[in-house]
Amino acid sequence: MLAQRMSSLLEPGTAAAREIARIAAAAGRPIVDLAAGEVVIGLPPTVREGAIAAIEAGANRYTDSIGIEPLREAVAEKLTASTHVNWAAQNIVITNGAKQALLNAVFAILDPGDEAIIFRPCWPTIPSQVLLAGAKPVFVDVKPPTYIPTLEAIHAAVTSQTKAIILNSPNNPTGAVYDRTTLQAIGDLAVNYQLWIVSDECYSSFVFNGHGHESIVTAHPGVRAQTILVNSFSKELAITGWRLGYFAAPPAIVSAAKKLQSHMTSNVNVIAQHAILHHLKVSDGSFERDMFKRLASARRDGIAVLSRLVDVQTPLADGSFYFYLDLGERIAKLPVNGPVQGIDDIARILLEEAGVAAVAGSTFGDPAGLRLSFGAPGELLIPALERVVDTLNALNDRQRPKDVFSRSGGLS
Ligand code: PLP
Repeated sequence: MLAQRMSSLLEPGTAAAREIARIAAAAGRPIVDLAAGEVVIGLPPTVREGAIAAIEAGANRYTDSIGIEPLREAVAEKLTASTHVNWAAQNIVITNGAKQALLNAVFAILDPGDEAIIFRPCWPTIPSQVLLAGAKPVFVDVKPPTYIPTLEAIHAAVTSQTKAIILNSPNNPTGAVYDRTTLQAIGDLAVNYQLWIVSDECYSSFVFNGHGHESIVTAHPGVRAQTILVNSFSKELAITGWRLGYFAAPPAIVSAAKKLQSHMTSNVNVIAQHAILHHLKVSDGSFERDMFKRLASARRDGIAVLSRLVDVQTPLADGSFYFYLDLGERIAKLPVNGPVQGIDDIARILLEEAGVAAVAGSTFGDPAGLRLSFGAPGELLIPALERVVDTLNALNDRQRPKDVFSRSGGLS
């Protein structure tokens, strides 16, 4: 008999979609994986050099559970430059990806009975971790095309139990990038009600709307003392498997995480820590620039293909590296009792007929959404998106044989 907490955890949908794609590919069916939350690109040479140097130097012991001091200093420097707010090593915790940073955050601030406001559609780990902490996720639904919450909706979700607002901009899955006014309004609200803000900014390198990324602590410096700012090298350097994330927070949260990580995982892999430190010291940023350029052109070409969709708005895709389609209108026009009933059927048809793995919005708490990553190589991405468009535009045609049959009934 498993513990009760296991029944409340959401399925990690992205992993499931990828597993289906892997099985299909193993069975000889070519599948293009647009479900992955990662960019397919080589390893940054500076990370490789740093890892090799660490191995050769015999770096094989435990480190401080919150990371080696020089890396914490380097991350503080990097964050100070990007947020225009001063951070020191004492604010920084090195974690096993943004995922562990977020888990530390909710474990450190939420008690059973507390509520955390989450904007939905959302990456499913966020509510799952709140549940693991024994607290209650309170969802605020955000709407297409912007998927940015209104202040009224957030206000309406605040109760006497609210302890935190968890935000994620640039957003997975929607690609939304919260504007300064929204960030300031969320900051004001957090200050007024004395709430924690957990700000997941792990897609901060990928903003395509021309304004760049703005952290909540930049938009509203007054909220810094109650903010846990989460980030990661997973997406920024396309090293998801290296498990190198971090958060910046007031020292009390850092001390809490020191205990938590010590009891749960100890330190992040020591080689990865040295590799990233080396990267931060010597890199000229060309890897990041090249990746950004590649993604920007994939986004532009992808948007051109997706603009052919009928009854589906072309996604804004302002940030992260996902096209998030709102198929609500399309789904509403599907015949009742037809073979296609909703977003899960649509994702299945795309896999089986277009050979494309996508993530159904149900994974993110949205029955109308479909997420397609543009981190796949361009030569695979564009033909795959063309097949997606053709398949989605022809969805209703599936009903025609039945209609033709009934109309032609009198001819036989
Ligand atoms: N936060 C969001 C919104 C994500 O999409 C992901 C991964 O997909 C993460 C956090 C976790 O990233 P990491 O690999 O750094 O743990």
